[in-house]
Parts: sequence; C-alpha cells; structure tokens
Amino acid sequence: MPSTSLDYIPFNKPYLVGNELRYIAEAAALGKLSGNGIFTQRCQDFFQREYGFTRALLTNSGTAALEMAALLLDLQPGDEVILPSFTFTSTANAFLLRGATLRFADSSPDHPNIAPAEIARLITPKTRAVVVVHYAGVACDIAAILPLIEQHNLVLIEDAAQAIESYHLTRRLGSIGHLAAFSFHETKNISAGEGGLLAINDSQFADRAEIIWEKGTNRAAFFRGETAKYQWVDIGSSFLPSEMTAAFLWAQLEQRQRILQRRLQQWTTYEQAFAPLAGIGLQLPFIPAYASAHNGHIFYLICRSVEERQQLIQHLADQNILAVFHYQPLHSSPYFHPRYAGPALGQAENYAQRLVRLPLYFELSEQQQTRIINCVLNFYTT
Ligand SMILES: *Cc1c(COP(=O)(O)O)cnc(C)c1O
Repeated sequence: MPSTSLDYIPFNKPYLVGNELRYIAEAAALGKLSGNGIFTQRCQDFFQREYGFTRALLTNSGTAALEMAALLLDLQPGDEVILPSFTFTSTANAFLLRGATLRFADSSPDHPNIAPAEIARLITPKTRAVVVVHYAGVACDIAAILPLIEQHNLVLIEDAAQAIESYHLTRRLGSIGHLAAFSFHETKNISAGEGGLLAINDSQFADRAEIIWEKGTNRAAFFRGETAKYQWVDIGSSFLPSEMTAAFLWAQLEQRQRILQRRLQQWTTYEQAFAPLAGIGLQLPFIPAYASAHNGHIFYLICRSVEERQQLIQHLADQNILAVFHYQPLHSSPYFHPRYAGPALGQAENYAQRLVRLPLYFELSEQQQTRIINCVLNFYTT
C-alpha cells in the first residue's frame, strides 16, 4: 500500500543553486538574448581555459553536440561507426542521421562501459569513428581504447553527457577524444534545463565546427572582424542556445564544486550502506582505479534477477520512492532489431535487466537518503 504519510522522493529533481535567475535578468537587460553573447562566451571561455579544450561550443543539447560531431566526420555511404549498445538513443541517432552504418558493441562484464575487446572485434576497413560513453560519469578504459584508435587511424568521440568533472587518471573526460559531447539536461550534474557542449580537442575540426554551429555561415568569424563578408560557406544548422540558457548554465558552473561535493557525499553514503549486499550476490558499482575521480552522477545496484529488480522498484514505490532502471539495449530495440545482424550482446542485456538507479540529486536531504537506504535494506532482510 502506498503510504501517503511519507513525502514523495523523486528520482531526480532540478534545482537552482545560486544566481540563475539573476543572470537571466542580466542577460535580458543587456538586450541580446540570441546565442553567442556574453554569457555564452563566458561559459565557452571557462571550458577552454579550465578543461583545456581547443574549442568549446555551447549547444541546445547533448544530442545537438553529438549531431555536430557526426557532421564534422563527413561520413560517406558505407562508413561505419562503433558505439555501445547500452546507451541513450542520441548516441546512435546522431550518426544514423548522417547515413553511417552502426556497429554495436557489448559492455564490460564488471561495469556498463564499452568493452575494449568489442571495439577490436568490430573494426573493419570501413570503420571511421568510435563513440565511447562514460556511463554514470565513470571513465571508459581509455588506455586500452586509444591504441586501437591510433593503429586504425579512427576518430574518437566521447559521449561525455554524464561525465562533467570526471577523470581518466589525471585527464578530464571530454578532453581525450578528438571530439566530445556534454549534456546540461536537467537530469545531469550541471544543468541548464536543456543544453549541451561540443568540445573540440583536434584543431583540424575547430573552424568548421563554428561554421556548422552558425547555420553554415562564417558569422562568428565575421563578428570577430576576420572576414569582410558574412556568407553561406558550408552545411550547418541552428545549434546555439539562447543567452538565457547560457546565463542559467553560468550560475550552475560557478557552483560546480558545491554540486559535485554534495553528489559525491550521497554516492559514498549509498556505497557504504549497501556494501553488505555484495555478500548476498548483488553488485555495487565497480569503479576501476583509473576512474576513481568520478562525479557521482548515478548510483546503481545490480540485482540478482530482473524479477528481483522489479520487486525492489515496487517495494520502494510503495514507500513513495522512485527508483528507475536504465537503457534497453539499442541493438535489440524495436527500431534497430530488424536491422541488426550481429551476435547477442549479453552484458548489455544483463545491465538492461538487472540495474536499478536510486534517487541522487542536489536537494536530496540526509533524512531522505536514510529513508531510501533503510527501505532497500529492509527489502533484503525481511
Ligand atoms: C543525456 C544523454 C544524452 C543526451 O543529452 P541531451 O542533452 O538530453 O540531448 C546523450 N548521451 C548520453 C549518454 C546521455 O546520458
């Protein structure tokens, strides 16, 4: 029976953390609300300076950033792109929209990230790019992946949508691939409601990225005084967010340390509380040593069966707590299944069936988290 006396704890809750509304008012007062104004510049400069990206371009979403990356590849018919099956649709759609042939890879047995051996299995003379997803903000096995990229002269794209402020050893995620996409969707650590960022780490893509971003024009260069005319010079689309989005984002970026610390604290509290469950066969998140500086984006448990997971989700729902599963593998989705000719991807299916995510967000109180923990432990001890 749902207990009406208990506050509802959502899975995620968007929050204001500082100057969001003040900066939006400032942007309005400045009289320029379209893209590439002062707040956009401030955010992009921040990412270029602090993250060391050659170029950082704000976008309307993480999806849009992935679409820009796909446009920059200039894919030809028959070109293949390798990506994990256990990911969000945008990782795949961006490349499919450009006519690529998708090659789906399985996850590792010990965590949901792409298995490097799978990349090796899928490389052919037609492979152009590999897209890796740092699931839950936990770094992929970059040291095993980079040699494959170099050896076969491929483009590495990081889907770093969940990975802001995470590292592989001492390298920031998003700064390793030729290109990387971040998301500022309200479910991500740093949010602008909807928003994203394309990070360009290989300068051969920088100028063209800016043109694609500005609807195929050299508008950005024109306003910097670098060209006498403002013209249509390439294909492109409308990828820039408005200044209101950038203003909101800037306020969250200013508070990024506070947000990160809070999330890591909640993540660690879950990890410690649920450590005993490993003794009865549940899996806790496995964080490889190279990924230890992660951002606490998702805390998940891997149940022993799909039935157990559904019962746990129901048990929490009965106590007014929303826990959720995650991706259904793309290779076996209603859209792609009829087009898929590869082998079964057992690990992707495994995470799809058994993984459950617990509430984790800036405003989750200690008291609420204790309630969630007790509810889960109670499910396993009665
Ligand atoms: C959130 C997410 C996206 C899409 O980002 P949007 O900003 O929602 O478009 C893409 N890939 C992954 C792995 C994500 O988690």
